[in-house]
Amino acid sequence: MEKFHFEKNKYERDLQLRERELTIRENELKTNRSKVTPTHVAIYVALVGVIGTCVVALLQGYTNIKLERQKFESEIILKVATSDSIERNKKNLEFMLKAGFITDEQGKINKLVKDANFDLKIQTEKRIDVHNELPPKSLSEVYVCHSATSLAYHNSMCRGLKRCADRIDVMTIEEAKKTGHRKPCSFCYK
Ligand SMILES: [Zn+2]
Repeated sequence: MEKFHFEKNKYERDLQLRERELTIRENELKTNRSKVTPTHVAIYVALVGVIGTCVVALLQGYTNIKLERQKFESEIILKVATSDSIERNKKNLEFMLKAGFITDEQGKINKLVKDANFDLKIQTEKRIDVHNELPPKSLSEVYVCHSATSLAYHNSMCRGLKRCADRIDVMTIEEAKKTGHRKPCSFCYK
């Protein structure tokens, strides 16, 4: 009988404890619900805004870096692939690829470099400083001064060409005539 009494007491206390627990939990839930105040909403909105701005800035930074990198890489390609030797151009570019100066994620550049039928030579405008030596020209080519007043073509650094303050190009006589340099220079062609 006493044992039963003890058990009953224990059961009742357990019940009381559980009820108290439930009440505490209910109260907790209620206070949690009321915790989201307008201030909190404002903070959340501001936070989302800040995160958004950060993401945009990061993306922009990433795009800028990527653009700079692409510019840098295309400059390298232009520099190493302009010699007259196709083999040398290919070797140079291959080195730049291997050294990691050029990214070639899809392997397209590497494929072109390895392709024996691909003649790697990037044509650049022949530009020279008039104070430097004249670029070599073949017998059929002439020098042309690019200033607006120049109307003749030359075959040497003559008195007339020395006065050229613009850039000097090498081209065939036909090309020179097309660009407005119709007559042979009177110093060069006597
Ligand atoms: Zn001349």
